[in-house]
Amino acid sequence: MAATTRRDLRTGRSLWADSPGLGVPVRPLARAVSVDVAVVGAGISGAFMAHGLSRDHSLAVLDRRPPLMGSTIASTALLQWEVDLPLIELTRRIGQTDAVRAYRRSFRAVADLQRIVADQKIVCGLKPKQSLYLAGDAYGRRALETEAEARRAAGLPSDFLAGAELKGRFGLDRTGGVLSDGSATGDPARLAAGLLRRAAARGARVYSPVEALEALVDPDGVTLLTDVGTVIRARHVVFCCGYEFPRGVPTPGARIVSTWAMASRPRRRIPAWLRQMLVWEASDPYLYIRMSRDGRLIVGGEDEASATAHEDPAKLRRKCRTLEAKLKALLPDVYFDVDYAWAGAFGESDTGLPQIGPIDDSGRVHAVMGFGGNGITYSVIASQVIGAAIRGAADPDADLYRA
Ligand SMILES: Cc1cc2nc3c(=O)[nH]c(=O)nc-3n(C[C@H](O)[C@H](O)[C@H](O)COP(=O)(O)OP(=O)(O)OC[C@H]3O[C@@H](n4cnc5c(N)ncnc54)[C@H](O)[C@@H]3O)c2cc1C
Repeated sequence: MAATTRRDLRTGRSLWADSPGLGVPVRPLARAVSVDVAVVGAGISGAFMAHGLSRDHSLAVLDRRPPLMGSTIASTALLQWEVDLPLIELTRRIGQTDAVRAYRRSFRAVADLQRIVADQKIVCGLKPKQSLYLAGDAYGRRALETEAEARRAAGLPSDFLAGAELKGRFGLDRTGGVLSDGSATGDPARLAAGLLRRAAARGARVYSPVEALEALVDPDGVTLLTDVGTVIRARHVVFCCGYEFPRGVPTPGARIVSTWAMASRPRRRIPAWLRQMLVWEASDPYLYIRMSRDGRLIVGGEDEASATAHEDPAKLRRKCRTLEAKLKALLPDVYFDVDYAWAGAFGESDTGLPQIGPIDDSGRVHAVMGFGGNGITYSVIASQVIGAAIRGAADPDADLYRA
């Protein structure tokens, strides 16, 4: 029975806002500082960037809000290597060689993320999961069968499951699906906080609230002007501003969309298989489902092509009803009592790939922008690609993410 109760519903508040362990030491920017790298944005992208760079560079991280309060706190954190566009469709758009490279790089990034969390002993509810991609109105049974073949040919761990197998193993009424290894889920806010604290322990300083206004490049470096009147002088500046694109930065093909999510109360009775798996649909708009470590069901999707729709409380209630109805249609025996419901903005691009790289000829100002639904995977890739550029090395896949 997918009945729903709304007692004490925390409307507009993300589940992770109540996570423990979100503290990050911050300070005001009281006087001018000089560092190797200034990172603008203390979300998950800025956190991976700071963590990766802090080993060899002096760092200032600045945010106009407290850390983590951009889209990171709203993320449902399905940590996937599957790009928003299936491999067969990405191949049509950018060619087979690059599409396979993009998929393999994402696969590696999710593995790297899990390794970093384990090495650094970051407590963030990280759990390796399988991913089940269900046939829907955008890609049906035949397309998904071809998709699974293309992925296997690329060396990726995906298998096609026919409708009868989906019914028999999971009780799901769909014509087909692709089951893949190598994904994970976690708490994105605790992950980002843990990375920022590790960077701070190596000497990185987090300044908040400080807004970056402009980056002025000269032959010796960059001067970052801020709203508090003091400046940061750096050899390199990296904008990790999520979906609040820095002024003057070109964003060809990137669009801001709104998306919705909700979480049940903890310790719900859920089919055992769903604890090991994240589920998403090849539909537009789509539904996705994952479990949290404390037994909550997290459900999201219903994306809309609007940068502001996520701010509308009435729409949040309507979207929750739609998500509940879709969940009930997919899993009629699961009881979902909504505890948290929230919404946020994220970015889409024509290829599902982000833009990562230098944004001017100096090579000193970099940006991380235009993420798709698996933005956190791209935060890892961005830290690797830009980290290499700052060290003066070349990342073999950097060209994939150039605008
Ligand atoms: C509801 C929802 C569900 C999602 N689900 C998933 C998912 O399942 N899997 C996944 O991988 N991704 C998901 N995403 C996307 C993912 O959350 C984002 O890709 C990720 O959080 C982006 O992190 P970020 O650090 O780049 O941006 P943010 O977290 O937005 O951080 C950017 C920071 O920059 C600061 N800032 C901006 N401009 C300035 C400035 N001029 N000066 C100073 N500071 C500035 C902001 O205050 C902010 O703190 C989801 C997003 C939403 C909203």
